[in-house]
Amino acid sequence: MQSYSSVVARTQDQRYQGSADIVIVGNGIAGLTAAVEARRLAPDMRIVMITEQCHPTINTPALKQFATGKLEREQLLAYPVGTERSQRIQVLHGRVEEINAQSKYVCLQGGGYIGYGVLLLATGSTANGLPENLPGRDFDGVLTLHRLQNYLDLRRRLNEVDEVAVVGGGLHAIETVTSLLHMGIQTHWFIRRKTCLSRVMDQRASAVVMKHIEKAGARIHCETEVVGIVGSVGTVAGVVTTYNQLISCQLVLVCTGTRPVTTLAEHCTLPMMYERDRGIFVNNQLRTSVPGIYAAGDVAAINNPQTGVHEIRAQWYAAVVQGCSAAAIMTGQHPSTVPPFGVPWHATRIGELAMLTVGNPLGRAEGSITLADSNKGTYRRLSLLDDRLIGYISLGTARSDGLAIKRLIDEGHSIRALKEPLLKGTFDGRKYFSQQHSTTVIAMTTGGNTSPLHSLYHSPAAPGTMVESMLVALPSSSAGSQSRKLLSYDRKRGH
Ligand SMILES: Cc1cc2nc3c(=O)[nH]c(=O)nc-3n(C[C@H](O)[C@H](O)[C@H](O)COP(=O)(O)OP(=O)(O)OC[C@H]3O[C@@H](n4cnc5c(N)ncnc54)[C@H](O)[C@@H]3O)c2cc1C
Repeated sequence: MQSYSSVVARTQDQRYQGSADIVIVGNGIAGLTAAVEARRLAPDMRIVMITEQCHPTINTPALKQFATGKLEREQLLAYPVGTERSQRIQVLHGRVEEINAQSKYVCLQGGGYIGYGVLLLATGSTANGLPENLPGRDFDGVLTLHRLQNYLDLRRRLNEVDEVAVVGGGLHAIETVTSLLHMGIQTHWFIRRKTCLSRVMDQRASAVVMKHIEKAGARIHCETEVVGIVGSVGTVAGVVTTYNQLISCQLVLVCTGTRPVTTLAEHCTLPMMYERDRGIFVNNQLRTSVPGIYAAGDVAAINNPQTGVHEIRAQWYAAVVQGCSAAAIMTGQHPSTVPPFGVPWHATRIGELAMLTVGNPLGRAEGSITLADSNKGTYRRLSLLDDRLIGYISLGTARSDGLAIKRLIDEGHSIRALKEPLLKGTFDGRKYFSQQHSTTVIAMTTGGNTSPLHSLYHSPAAPGTMVESMLVALPSSSAGSQSRKLLSYDRKRGH
């Protein structure tokens, strides 16, 4: 294990506020998961978490249920009250303004600096919001939904509104629309493009989702933008669209996506690889291009093994896994103990509709082919390269085995015999992999080869313990159910 005695310095300086072996910026789920896991792995290390957030770490996916009254404020906590204290994680409230990477300290707003042995940037993301010049964007009742404060505000208002406008074409907008419909609120949904979820869904999949939401009562306005907000004595009274329509509403909810908070990469004394909209570039051990500095969660751009492109995975589950991995590396565990992140995946529920996307769902690869099946409101699409799966979309009432399908892609299995079950949504991952496992054991005992990826997947250091303890506090949200599934899957595999 590394020693960081070199950071104990500068005690003569008035502004010096101490040092720690591990300093974490941000107390979102990536930051706190990393801190708790680091404590488990390194009982004696000094851990400091600096955050400008005024409340403990919350389960952000559950904010939607909180807004509609299904959960209370206390149920939002991601970890039990007092976790930081019991785990000896020192929390400092403040904003980190700059990193001095040569002398290894961070500068706080208003003066003061803190030395670090290793530094984790878990600064998350910020909401895109509405364009700066949009008329009426400052009226009371225009809410960009991203932080707890926005949802506290929304919850207070929802009982007094009849009509709401939701702006945005992604999952965040969809989940907001369905929550409002569930409360019986008339909801107008504005999508800039012809389809929703255009990054991960083809037209047919998008049509299934939109039909489902329309059936639940939403008024969907495709290829329509809000170009202005009309007010009455300072509060929202309606929106004006690109078609010059005036649609009455008392709230405008903005769900137009997020971007990573890369300011500390910009304010670092050594050049750090990042792009403003794409995040801070890290390798598979979450190391940035600056020695001793790591990044995890919504701010970290990790390599997509299918495309070779660095991209963020702004999802709860990804932030938890990355927090665990960063902790392992920062506390000096061997890199081989950190399982590979593999391809992205996402599972959620939109009302009755279970949605799953895995890998490269639109199959944008040279030579790839597509197979699709749709029947009575369900849709499945396989993208294949030779006989290997590279992307998968599933929409239907039954949940698909997302983790198993991810594994098919990550490990490059031939799916020649699995096309039909994957298309029909009847693929049984547990059965398939237990058969594979038996074949592998036989191959090993008879001297056959096994895939190196296989052993990484079965690494004892997979972050099960950490994820499991975290899930105790998770209400049933999309992220929760996704992670829970992973756990039960791991347990059933017996690892
Ligand atoms: C409303 C909402 C709903 C969501 N729903 C889902 C869902 O259903 N399923 C799913 O998988 N994902 C969902 N997500 C995404 C998921 O919640 C995020 O991917 C995850 O929470 C990111 O965690 P993080 O720790 O990386 O960042 P964040 O939670 O953004 O935390 C970053 C922290 O860093 C602090 N910080 C930033 N800069 C500084 C600085 N310079 N100095 C000090 N502190 C700083 C911030 O104040 C913040 O507290 C949702 C997100 C939101 C906002």
